[in-house]
Amino acid sequence: MYNLELRSDTFTKPTPAMLDAMMNANVGDDVFEEDETTKSLERKCAAMFGYEDALLCLSGTMANQIAITAHAKAGEEVICDALSHIYLYEGGGIMANAHASVSLLQGNRGRLTASLIEDVIKPDNVHYPVSTLVSLENTVNKGGGSIYAIEEIKQIKQLCIKHNMRLHLDGARLFNALVETKESPLEHGALFDSITICLSKGLGAPMGTVLLGNSAFIHQARRIRKRFGGGWRQSGYIAAAGIYALDHHIDRLADDHRRAHELGTLFSELNIVTEILPIETNIVIIRLDPKFLANDIVDQWSRLGLKTSPFGKHQIRLVTHLDFSDNDLAKVRQVLTQFQP
Ligand SMILES: *Cc1c(COP(=O)(O)O)cnc(C)c1O
Repeated sequence: MYNLELRSDTFTKPTPAMLDAMMNANVGDDVFEEDETTKSLERKCAAMFGYEDALLCLSGTMANQIAITAHAKAGEEVICDALSHIYLYEGGGIMANAHASVSLLQGNRGRLTASLIEDVIKPDNVHYPVSTLVSLENTVNKGGGSIYAIEEIKQIKQLCIKHNMRLHLDGARLFNALVETKESPLEHGALFDSITICLSKGLGAPMGTVLLGNSAFIHQARRIRKRFGGGWRQSGYIAAAGIYALDHHIDRLADDHRRAHELGTLFSELNIVTEILPIETNIVIIRLDPKFLANDIVDQWSRLGLKTSPFGKHQIRLVTHLDFSDNDLAKVRQVLTQFQP
């Protein structure tokens, strides 16, 4: 029986070379800021994106929530898309951690525009929350890995400057976008007050997200991380995996994108499928004929060794990654020939 893992790009396991790098890490106590490998990962990411400083956090959720808590206070509001991870998948943390309100917008597959945002910025009037933070996601997970046009981000940045709002990026899959657009990390770093970069999705590290910002912001973020219980000790073992991932696993994301396109073609041939959302990176979202329930189809495929995620009542998500090869792609083709809905 096959084990074809397409539920998420978080299932990757460290490669032998990555494990070697982890075993050889020079470590210390990071709460005392004495873990050299963690500091070196933080410096590397900060330099790559043109920020003063960086902070390695346990997860993307923790890094986003630290950023939101640092940027927004009680009585203020965060403007984001209704599909965004910070709103949908972080346990209500905007409210629970920052005590902030949310203004939800309906963008195009999770992508906002400056004009959509402008319409909901609150005037200075006691009735309203204070519009403090705009948060974008690139690529958008719920949008099927959709990529932002950098020109739109530039307009959003100008709007934020004009209205004295901060701009945060949930960049869990930012490298997937950069590999496609060929834009540089520096160009994107120049546009945001803070960015989170995930090491454990497509880049294949076992855990870790780096939060980027200026020195004062990261100083505050370090304090909030401690309060969240996220101060860690010999984090250099994890940082070493992150350094290895940044050095070796960025360019290969293009292979994941090619395989996602090939999966799209394969699944579009099934008669239970009505539509495949446009594939831009490593995520494929399949729309089923409404006669079929995503949960049922996912169960049937799972029994054949093909693991996928229900993503709405009639939608299924597939995600390609470091541990899904061309050989696995051929096996998916075989599984689908055995499949009878
Ligand atoms: C995975 C993900 C995160 C962070 O998730 P963790 O599991 O907490 O690391 C944040 N944003 C997006 C868009 C994601 O896909």
